[in-house]
Amino acid sequence: MRIRVAVTVAVLAATAALAGCAGDSSDLPVLPDQPKVAATPPAPGGEQAAPPACDPRASLRPAGALPAPGDMPAGSYMATIQERGRLVLGTSQDTLLFSSRNPFSGRIEGFDVDMGRQIAQAIFGDPDKIQIKVIGYDKRVSSAADGSVDLVADTMTANCARWADVNFSSIYYEAGQKVLVSKNSTAKRIEDLGGKRICSAAGSTSFDNIGKVKAKPVLVAVARPAFGDCLVAFQRNEVEGISTDDTILAGMAAQDPYAKVIGEKFTDEPYAMAMNKSHPEFTRFVNAVLERNRADGTWKKTYEKWLGDFGPAPAPPGARYR
Ligand code: GLU
Repeated sequence: MRIRVAVTVAVLAATAALAGCAGDSSDLPVLPDQPKVAATPPAPGGEQAAPPACDPRASLRPAGALPAPGDMPAGSYMATIQERGRLVLGTSQDTLLFSSRNPFSGRIEGFDVDMGRQIAQAIFGDPDKIQIKVIGYDKRVSSAADGSVDLVADTMTANCARWADVNFSSIYYEAGQKVLVSKNSTAKRIEDLGGKRICSAAGSTSFDNIGKVKAKPVLVAVARPAFGDCLVAFQRNEVEGISTDDTILAGMAAQDPYAKVIGEKFTDEPYAMAMNKSHPEFTRFVNAVLERNRADGTWKKTYEKWLGDFGPAPAPPGARYR
């Protein structure tokens, strides 16, 4: 218990310290996302709206060769970013391995941050020309849709409901939902946790999925603003489990010696970057960068850098286009 409290205190202290950090994070004046229950029908002749039989993995096809860094086509959204001098990336600061604050350097880093840095590299020839805005999970769609960020890379599942409000890139990572419990739990899978309090971040797909698990009695879904808050709630015994993508749980288990992840993936969570729908050329550009990075080994190196401890890199997810 003492160690567990110590871990909690460390998390809280880190959170408090980070709240005071200047530089690359800020609160965004955005409205909470309004969840949509269905994709809107396609506009006549429009390529942007989700088609009736929506394939959330199908993005916009790259248009020709990539322009040279520093030479973005006039009038394009990439040129707007180039003129501004930095790419604005929306992401989390507490998702270890994907986007979390390095306590030594103070910088936010991880697989998702590198996805953004690779787009900055393609626009400027410099991956550091990036401004990171820390956003809540429930602000990922609205931040891309209202233009307060250029790009969201934040363990974000591409789904048809979200396609109604944002464009997604092609898929860059295949995750799936699991559950984390205390090491002394006898549960083998999430269905064994009937009646237990299970935490997830507000606005995440996992939160909705908890309600669909066939457990008896039903699971009690508990929402917290971010998964770091779920970890604190778990360490205070306010919840018996945390359910989210296997990627995020792996980062939590690495921080808590009393936690373990159980069961198989029970959902598919294909990650993509979200962008504003009014600049389709930017989505095509991002997809062209992803194509190149899959082909030249950059994706593999990024995987090995952040997730190599979990085993060899799989083949990168293939791109699909609508
Ligand atoms: N991939 C999820 C999403 O996009 C985030 C993690 C979760 O839902 O738990 O909402």
